[in-house]
Amino acid sequence: MSLAGDLARALRSGDRRALSKAITLVESTREDDRSAALELLSTLGVTGEHSFRIGVTGVPGAGKSTLIEALGLHAIAAGKRVAVLAVDPSSQRTGGSVLGDKTRMTRLSGHASAYVRPSPTLGVLGGTAGRTREVIGLCEAAGYDSILVETVGVGQSEERVASMVDCVLLLVLAGAGDELQTLKRGLLESADLIAFNKADGDRARLAENESAALRASLSISRPHGSPAVLTVSGQEGNGVVALWSALVQYQEAGVQNGSLAARRSAQLKAWFGAALDEALLEVFVRRPDLLPARVAAEQSVESGATSPLEAAQRLVAGLLPTRGG
Ligand code: GDP
Repeated sequence: MSLAGDLARALRSGDRRALSKAITLVESTREDDRSAALELLSTLGVTGEHSFRIGVTGVPGAGKSTLIEALGLHAIAAGKRVAVLAVDPSSQRTGGSVLGDKTRMTRLSGHASAYVRPSPTLGVLGGTAGRTREVIGLCEAAGYDSILVETVGVGQSEERVASMVDCVLLLVLAGAGDELQTLKRGLLESADLIAFNKADGDRARLAENESAALRASLSISRPHGSPAVLTVSGQEGNGVVALWSALVQYQEAGVQNGSLAARRSAQLKAWFGAALDEALLEVFVRRPDLLPARVAAEQSVESGATSPLEAAQRLVAGLLPTRGG
């Protein structure tokens, strides 16, 4: 029996250790793990037909972990099975909670219906965050139907998360000037739902006011399909049920009007493009016989004899058989 076959069976039966093992295999950059990883993924096939993939983004300290735990526990109470993953875990070690922290989401991670992916140890070699899409599929194959993907909204990680989920939930804080910054960074563009988090205590009223103002301004700037704006407190629990309902409503509307299927198929196409780029680059790593040609092309570019574009295109063209050849 093959490793991939055994792993696929164990994973489908809901064995968490098998899921963790599968994730490690798929994220491995070791050459000899690659064929088993590919075999595993192809054995598992297409996943997620009935799953809901939610990205949760916000600045460090916005309360993402706290809210994800509250949302996750609520979803489980509603009969869901919840998996929590992270994009760019290494960039999350600033402020707020640390993804590598074992105490993170203890109530959720201890739950039989949840899988909180332990984050890879920092310093581990390899682009561990580069396989989040595949990891989502592994979780779905293991029976998790609500996938929460956490990312810090600083830089490009929120775009990456938007390219792999059905819905992006953006967390903002009232009174932090966050709202304006967010607008500037265009973060709002990728948000499908916005929540003013930590709307408790002294901040509750401010959050209400700011959310009303944002709702009004979005209805002008995005008259068709402006995202819902809510207030929530992941810590106190106010608004968590309403937020989950809004997420589910977003999903149901997307299923009804076909936008969810369209989004997923566009994501698959982009994913293929990225995988193709990666595969092409790897050709040069895996085939030492091609190194001299690459070095020669680099030198030619450095000396100004050839443009980077031309050198790259010639190098790749040289790999392909000529017509009729
Ligand atoms: P993350 O970095 O976005 O994951 O944020 P965390 O969930 O780790 O929370 C950052 C800090 O904010 C912690 O000290 C939390 O206790 C606090 N916090 C999180 N959620 C809330 C909330 O809803 N209300 C209040 N008042 N504090 C919160």
